[in-house]
Amino acid sequence: TTLSDRLKTAIRDVPDFPKPGIVFKDITPVLHDPVLFADVTAALAAPWKGKGITHVLAIESRGFLFGAPVAQHLGASLVPVRKPGKLPSAHLTEHYALEYGEDAVEVHTDAIDARSLVLIVDDVLATGGTAAATRRLAHRLGAGVAGIGVVMDLSFLPWRKALAGVHVETLVSF
Ligand code: IMP
Repeated sequence: TTLSDRLKTAIRDVPDFPKPGIVFKDITPVLHDPVLFADVTAALAAPWKGKGITHVLAIESRGFLFGAPVAQHLGASLVPVRKPGKLPSAHLTEHYALEYGEDAVEVHTDAIDARSLVLIVDDVLATGGTAAATRRLAHRLGAGVAGIGVVMDLSFLPWRKALAGVHVETLVSF
């Protein structure tokens, strides 16, 4: 069986979370299986080996779980990209639109610079808004963005449009 098939078996649908009508894809069973978790983080890192990645930008919260081992696989620095109000030192903020309202991501200004080549890691691509805002943070600090690696993408949502021209690697599509 392929890794994609193993992920399809492991990832579970939780109806009406976080709101009625939304079917949430729950990745916690992937974390519960140490062999699958290790295979997933190795596969997330594989396409980027030898590409000169200096930093992995891991998006709060589930992106931390996958981004940390990917950074170790690549011998790269780990940079947490956080929701507003969590970073203690000087930081930049990028806002992005949600279906209703908006949210934001932040990064420490001293985390990356014009010599950096970053890989963005998260668990899920849905609208692509979070990853696109993270990409803008990297560009504002002068860094290059090699691409985005995620465990799964929701292909019925418009992330491809939000991330047009960006190298995206995904392990399973729903
Ligand atoms: P986007 O900004 O719309 O692409 O949403 C991506 C963000 O929302 C990621 O940080 C995901 O962790 C989270 N997300 C959206 N849908 C799901 C889901 O079904 N399962 C888990 N996380 C999700």
